[in-house]
Amino acid sequence: MVKCPKCGVEVTNYVKTWSMIGKPSKSGEMLQLMIGLYECVNCKKRFRNVIGKEKITIKGIMQKIKALEEMIMEATEKKAELEEKVKALEKEKACLLAEIEALKAIPELEAKLSSLECEIAKLKEEKKALEEKVTPPPCEAAPVEAPAPAEEKPCEATPTEEKTCEEKPCE
Ligand SMILES: [Zn+2]
Repeated sequence: MVKCPKCGVEVTNYVKTWSMIGKPSKSGEMLQLMIGLYECVNCKKRFRNVIGKEKITIKGIMQKIKALEEMIMEATEKKAELEEKVKALEKEKACLLAEIEALKAIPELEAKLSSLECEIAKLKEEKKALEEKVTPPPCEAAPVEAPAPAEEKPCEATPTEEKTCEEKPCE
């Protein structure tokens, strides 16, 4: 509790506080003062008062700096660690994307494969047909040449009556 320097009324609460550091002494010690600003409830006079004192040594400050440096070091290490993790995750992501691409390509390749197989089968058939045409039947090695297909039957054959089905099946 503080007394107002003007009227002597006791003032309990301060308006605000701040700290001040004094000049270091020869031994390297400094005083940190906590100062409060008071306002008298009676006469409204404002005055300052020292609330607390704290001795600070250069050594103490150095220790604080060291602690801060350690914190910074730790943060830096953590950052590097996180960056490495991010890198690893990015690598994994790339791998997964590549796998997905490969999986996507499979049905396409399978379709290609089956169409190629189909083509190959057709070509084989064609080859077989051509081979049959080229090589004459073994028994008919007769010198007589096959008669030219001069008498070709006209394609316009008489319309088959069989196809025009008049008798409709019972429904
Ligand atoms: Zn007063």
